[in-house]
Amino acid sequence: MIDFHTHLDLYPNPSEVARECRVRGMDILSVTTTPSAWKGTSAIAMPGSRVRTALGLHPQIAHQRRSELDLFDHYLPDASYVGEVGLDGAPEFKKYWDDQLSVFNHVLQACSRAGGRIMSIHSRRAASAVLDRLEVFPNAGVPILHWFSGNKRDLDRALSLNCWFSVGPAMLIGTKGLDLVGHIPREQILTETDGPFAQVNGRGMMPWDAQRAVVQLSALWKIPLKNVEQELDSNLQRFTSLL
Ligand code: MN
Repeated sequence: MIDFHTHLDLYPNPSEVARECRVRGMDILSVTTTPSAWKGTSAIAMPGSRVRTALGLHPQIAHQRRSELDLFDHYLPDASYVGEVGLDGAPEFKKYWDDQLSVFNHVLQACSRAGGRIMSIHSRRAASAVLDRLEVFPNAGVPILHWFSGNKRDLDRALSLNCWFSVGPAMLIGTKGLDLVGHIPREQILTETDGPFAQVNGRGMMPWDAQRAVVQLSALWKIPLKNVEQELDSNLQRFTSLL
């Protein structure tokens, strides 16, 4: 099972969650929201587990943490994965748009100079702006758009820019999300939860709630669960070998 966008460090008991992920043999992308959290969060991953820790600076706190860009640059040579990064165009964050843009530009430029990274990208109400930035930095690496909520035109553009998509139970529960996912080629999709932020039944999702997305994809694609799992596993192999 794959959860390619989770915030392990934000659970009340990160080590227990990491242990359970290992027991279940899960593939995890553990994203961070600040560069200063990267080292400690990397340490949560159990030896021998398939937890990858991404170096991030979340757009919703870009205005508070832009001073950590030096630290981002410092850790980047040791980080194969970058995230959570991106832009957020919701009204409460739009007022920090300039900070968000300068942080995201910096991240993309640093990734380009470092030879490219796999990047888990937030694009809430900012899909076309995120795609504009990706177009400017074509060598930044391989983008995986997390919980994508743009329109069809944005989606077509994202596909032409070779973006991948991580989709979770929260996205697959609504008709808009389902419709979008129905238009994404199966071979460019991975599952995620965005736990513990994203919720199911009034509680923060655990990484293994990604199984709900597998069930939802099985219904959407009209193929058995087992085939969905095979598809996702083969996607993950291809995806992680792109860089
Ligand atoms: Mn997130």
